[in-house]
Amino acid sequence: MDLNWSDSEEAFRADCREWLTANVPTGLESGDTATGFAQHLEWEKLLHEARWSVVSWPEAYAGRDATLWEWLIFEEEYYAAQAPQRITQNGIFLLAPTIFEFGNQAQQDHYLPRMSAAEDLWCQGWSEPNAGSDLAGISSRAVRDDEAGGWRLSGQKTWTTRGAFCTHLFGLFRTDAEAERHRGLTYFLVPLDAEGMTVRGFGRLDGDEGFAEVFLDDVFVPDDDGTAATMQRGGILGEVDKGWGVAMATTNSERGLTLRSPGRFRAAASRLVDLAVQTAGDGRASSAALDAVTDAWIDAEAYALYTLGDVTDLVEGRSPGAKSSYNKVFWSEMDVRLHRAALDLLGDRAELDGPWMRGYEFALSGPIYAGTNEIQRNIIAERVLGLPRK
Ligand SMILES: Cc1cc2nc3c(=O)[nH]c(=O)nc-3n(C[C@H](O)[C@H](O)[C@H](O)COP(=O)(O)OP(=O)(O)OC[C@H]3O[C@@H](n4cnc5c(N)ncnc54)[C@H](O)[C@@H]3O)c2cc1C
Repeated sequence: MDLNWSDSEEAFRADCREWLTANVPTGLESGDTATGFAQHLEWEKLLHEARWSVVSWPEAYAGRDATLWEWLIFEEEYYAAQAPQRITQNGIFLLAPTIFEFGNQAQQDHYLPRMSAAEDLWCQGWSEPNAGSDLAGISSRAVRDDEAGGWRLSGQKTWTTRGAFCTHLFGLFRTDAEAERHRGLTYFLVPLDAEGMTVRGFGRLDGDEGFAEVFLDDVFVPDDDGTAATMQRGGILGEVDKGWGVAMATTNSERGLTLRSPGRFRAAASRLVDLAVQTAGDGRASSAALDAVTDAWIDAEAYALYTLGDVTDLVEGRSPGAKSSYNKVFWSEMDVRLHRAALDLLGDRAELDGPWMRGYEFALSGPIYAGTNEIQRNIIAERVLGLPRK
């Protein structure tokens, strides 16, 4: 593998850097609050207008047809410039790859431009009160209404990140009550303002109010006739009763590369090194704390190098499949260690220092969301290493 960037890749990097340096906003509130979400939305629209919101997508959908390598470069520059995390990420990084793979042409043409322009804002409707790790145990259902020509959805979703502020939800619903657990599920796309939908926001431990419970009471989703008017009322992605396979494509993106590209961790590791230099300068950092900084920096570099292998696989047509669970365990545990190293450096002042403490609180949820790390280790044991089920 050639680890050097080509001239055109370096030119692409210079373009991103120039634009980001001139445009990245400062002082935004958390995107998981109503005020912050509105501020982030303005930023996302600016990104779109300058065609930086979805660089690897085709130009027809407001992308730049960038290669996956260029996308990695963009991500590095994005986080190095201290640009904010994307409030559109559930749509752009999770749902969009699934629409590219499973959506028909009309669906791609309808949903993708609206997503890249931050007009449709998607939240993920997987978890239910009794189905988190056991996703196949969901009980929300969709019942066929032949007379009206569509489906009627009922049930409850929970823990939907930023659901209180989004416009649409993607999620799994049981369409065949008799089928085995993983069969008989269908992947639906539903507007959150549909009749029968109730979205109730609630707070997180860190004080942000971005979570929502979503209640569906006989929400009607019409059959796809290829028209925009119908698609605005929702639809099905992939085939009826075959939603599990479609959902697995989404979760592979969530656990693997696209949601957590290395640029974010390298930028955080670089800020950590700056912090260590400041605190070591005035003699307050212990050698154990400085060792933890070195380890965190090496971890972030190792993840970046591992990612180059992932991208090579993707470019050469090999899908990571269950191997994306390796990434999930690694990035989530690395993020906790990295923030803990910062808190150790800050000592008593850590509690007063907003960004590192807030980052630490959020990092603690990494081993839980996108499928807990216990579940990821089960997947690695059974599906990657071929060990027997317990
Ligand atoms: C910050 C954050 C954002 C989230 N955003 C979303 C979102 O946008 N959309 C959404 O749908 N969900 C979201 N979730 C929910 C998340 O996906 C679930 O919390 C997660 O899947 C775990 O499910 P659970 O909470 O029901 O825990 P449970 O499934 O009840 O698990 C409890 C504990 O038991 C362990 N456990 C369970 N089964 C096994 C097993 N077979 N083997 C070993 N250990 C096991 C788990 O690892 C965990 O430690 C979010 C969660 C967080 C923390």
